[in-house]
Amino acid sequence: MENSILWNNFLDVIKSKISSVSFDTWFKETKLIKNENNKLLIQVPMSFHKKFLNETYYDLIDEILVGITGNSFDLDFIVEEEIKDSDNEIDEKNIDTTYSNLNSNLNSKYTFENFVIGESNRFAQTAAVAVAEQPGKIYNPLFIHGKSGLGKTHLMHAIGNYVINNSEKKVLYVTSEEFIADFIGINKKENNNFDIVDHFKEKYRNIDVLLIDDIQFLGGAEKTQHEFFHTFNTLYDSNKQIIISSDRSPDDLKLLEDRLRTRFRWGLTVDIFPPNFELRCKILKDKMVGHEVANLVKNEVIEYIATNCENDVRHLEGAITRLYAYAAIMCPKEINLDFAVEALKDYIGKSIYITNNITKIQKAVADYYNITIEDLKSKKRHANISYPRQIAMYLSRMTTEETIVKIGLEFGNRDHSTVLHSCEKIAKELNNNEKLKNKLKEIKNKIVN
Ligand code: ADP
Ligand code: MG
Repeated sequence: MENSILWNNFLDVIKSKISSVSFDTWFKETKLIKNENNKLLIQVPMSFHKKFLNETYYDLIDEILVGITGNSFDLDFIVEEEIKDSDNEIDEKNIDTTYSNLNSNLNSKYTFENFVIGESNRFAQTAAVAVAEQPGKIYNPLFIHGKSGLGKTHLMHAIGNYVINNSEKKVLYVTSEEFIADFIGINKKENNNFDIVDHFKEKYRNIDVLLIDDIQFLGGAEKTQHEFFHTFNTLYDSNKQIIISSDRSPDDLKLLEDRLRTRFRWGLTVDIFPPNFELRCKILKDKMVGHEVANLVKNEVIEYIATNCENDVRHLEGAITRLYAYAAIMCPKEINLDFAVEALKDYIGKSIYITNNITKIQKAVADYYNITIEDLKSKKRHANISYPRQIAMYLSRMTTEETIVKIGLEFGNRDHSTVLHSCEKIAKELNNNEKLKNKLKEIKNKIVN
């Protein structure tokens, strides 16, 4: 039985046997990556899953697999990073290449529908939709660049999925590493097996839309660059769409041949930037929906995560996975800030969070605004004191372990509702005030640890 079929069967069965929270938390993101000599290697999102699945679900998994296949298996769990680190990488590649002959290598979970749009990615998203609607016609090639975790791969798959769902066109998604692997594959056998050469050419040159992810890894491989150049030309000349992603702009791809870089500039180059606070909140909300405990999550939790996971979307997703995993164990009545802080204590803001205390924040804010800590604690209501006070309360709430009550006490014995009000006000303002956001960043950097 094909790995994916076996595993999908398994997932269907286990889904009916455990709660949907448990399923979503422990099994939804798993994948069977190797099945050899009755040993199954199962990919899981975090090492936390490895431990938990081994301790809690091993017997149930085994029982279900026996039910499906008649065999008992040894189970081994592995996290994605470990696969990348180990030489076993080839196993995953093998699966991908066999599959790519049959289909497009596309992951159906990445679509335009679930790509959340904000200022930082709107241009890239719009260009991606345009290309998906009119492949080969308007922007060719489309070059998407941006730092890791900002949605390049997601957008590429979304384009591919859109094309295969709305046309008869042939799509192929590969990472540049897979492209190299395919190429090396033919190189080895070049002298005695022309079928494979033809096969490579057919695979890459007979398609309508070619998506090559992470082109920066093509850097060192000169022969492959050469082949890619020809593949590019063949496709381009016959108006086939090419979409390329990279962690840097064409100009910064120093290891690529000039003629390739020049080609990349023929089309449209779009940049994806890190999401701002507002988009981070939007993405978090979007990704939390649908989970059984989603309606237990308080808004303050979203703000807390959005404040502390600033750089990329993968980081936000990791926070949700951990939050939900913790919720599956603790079964809380509501997922509030305290719960989130506990659930994510090893994951986010370690340096800010653990070492911060209210006094340090007060000092940083007071210095920044040229007032004193006493001012912050005083009853003074003038805006040049009360505004910094609200900021200091907000930072205390978001980056320390203290309760609202304690924060109130530290700010001249104020009521907890005053603290809440201040935090909400600042959080709201952060939604559309980039200046304030930068100020907070500066202040955070000034907090002495
Ligand atoms: P990159 O390829 O740029 O490193 P990915 O496309 O792999 O980033 O994105 C990392 C994760 O973040 C993926 O799970 C992806 O679905 C998610 N993601 C990124 N941007 C968005 C977005 N705007 N809306 C929804 N999910 C996103
Ligand atoms: Mg990627």
